[in-house]
Amino acid sequence: MPPAGQQLTYSIALGASYVLAQLALTAWAGTHAPYVSYAFNIVAPLLALAACCRCAYVNAAGAARTGWALFAVAMLFWSTGMILSAWQDLSGQVASDATYFSDFAYFMYGAPLLLAISSVTHNHPSRTLQWLDAVQVLLAAYLAYTAIFSVSPFDQRSIAPIPASLLVLTYNVENLVLACCASLRLLAHRRDGGQGRFYLLLTVFLWCYAGCAAAYNYLTLHGVTQAWSEVLPSLPFLLLVLLATRVTAAQSAAENTQAQQALQKLTLLIDNFSPIFFTAALLGLGFAVMRAHFYLAAASLFVALLVHALRSATLQSRYMQSELALRAAHDKLEKLSLTDGLTGIANRRCFDQTLQLEWQRAARNHQGLALLIIDIDFFKSLNDTFGHPYGDACLVRIAAALHSALPRASDLAARFGGEEFAAILPATDGDGALAVAHKMQEAIAAAAIVHAPSRGGLVTASIGLALSDGGQTPEQLLAAADQALYRAKQNGRNRVES
Ligand code: GH3
Ligand code: MG
Ligand code: MG
Repeated sequence: MPPAGQQLTYSIALGASYVLAQLALTAWAGTHAPYVSYAFNIVAPLLALAACCRCAYVNAAGAARTGWALFAVAMLFWSTGMILSAWQDLSGQVASDATYFSDFAYFMYGAPLLLAISSVTHNHPSRTLQWLDAVQVLLAAYLAYTAIFSVSPFDQRSIAPIPASLLVLTYNVENLVLACCASLRLLAHRRDGGQGRFYLLLTVFLWCYAGCAAAYNYLTLHGVTQAWSEVLPSLPFLLLVLLATRVTAAQSAAENTQAQQALQKLTLLIDNFSPIFFTAALLGLGFAVMRAHFYLAAASLFVALLVHALRSATLQSRYMQSELALRAAHDKLEKLSLTDGLTGIANRRCFDQTLQLEWQRAARNHQGLALLIIDIDFFKSLNDTFGHPYGDACLVRIAAALHSALPRASDLAARFGGEEFAAILPATDGDGALAVAHKMQEAIAAAAIVHAPSRGGLVTASIGLALSDGGQTPEQLLAAADQALYRAKQNGRNRVES
């Protein structure tokens, strides 16, 4: 594959060749010039259609995919319009209606584009929203047909197309609205990876299209077309093809800097505002046909507002669902962050937080607070004898035993680190704490974990106990319990010292 710069040069050269070929062949064809001109003006949007399909394909996993697919549908509408124009113009045997059906196709080319511009960014499209989009497009088509032909679709009366000057004005308004709305979306998404690129290309295309269409329609309307003006319809499509060849798989969004966060707010604001674009377009069309088709217009306005309300409700409920899911995930994470991975009881972090809280509560209520530190005796040799996995399994059983020995729900047993555990006993005096410590030793003994060096051939634990009367800090309380544990080890292990 050639490097990007070279590729761009090729693309520009090809685009220029296309325009020059169109000019040269049209001049050379003489009386057949319209055939040549139509051929070129049909191939250009078809090339753009292929380019959009390719972009949708390479962005398969990105949020821009729907946008490119809708862009492709718009190109299909426009190509159809040009084919109908050519058929009507060149065959000469079709009633003038065909021109107007091509106009309908040109007008409808805006619908998928407006849909792409007004859709809320979401990586997981919702069925409800897609149905609402479909209803909006159908309503837009119905109203556009009525506006252009002055009769509703399926009406038996013959059509009465609006004057060409009014049609051109309508096109210009449509093109301008599309370009402005796309620019707004681009403003929000310009640094947004694949989506940013999509909105950039769409905006550039729409402004170019609005300019070329206005110029071409003006010249045609006033009957002053020139040889060069026949290339105007192809230009925006060629530009699109040229730019779209440089679209690659969606790059990830830029980093989350401070500027990016500010932009994120703007993005969300514009994103949530954008569904109003299509509703506003429908309201505009509704008002346009109101004088001649009052009931149709009234019904359309009602449907447009209803669809808007349903869309808002759907989006709102989706946001609330995500918020609930986020909150659940947050709670789960918080619980995980306070639990010891191996034993399933509270971890050191939870212990520190609880000690701080209980110490404050004890000071406020002038109650005692007892702290136990439990260290397994000769655990290193247990590991050495039976292996680390066995040691781990023993820690799990010991943690369960310690937890089961706690009499009150407000008591907390935690893994303090390694093979050391700790317990916080709120509103507990010395006798109570001593009783709990002995109960813990009994629970460990009841677990009956075989270990030769310990007394009785079973795993035992030494426990250091400290009591707070409100005079000490939590750190001092911990240090006192640690010293007591040291004494318990010194005095022969498998005992409680305070
Ligand atoms: P003492 O009676 O003096 O407490 O002797 P000890 O062997 O238990 O000595 P110490 O408390 O210093 O030893 C801690 C040992 O605990 C060291 C390490 O092998 C073991 N240990 C620490 N954390 C883990 C763990 O997560 N899993 C396992 N299996 N062993 C651990
Ligand atoms: Mg230890
Ligand atoms: Mg130990």
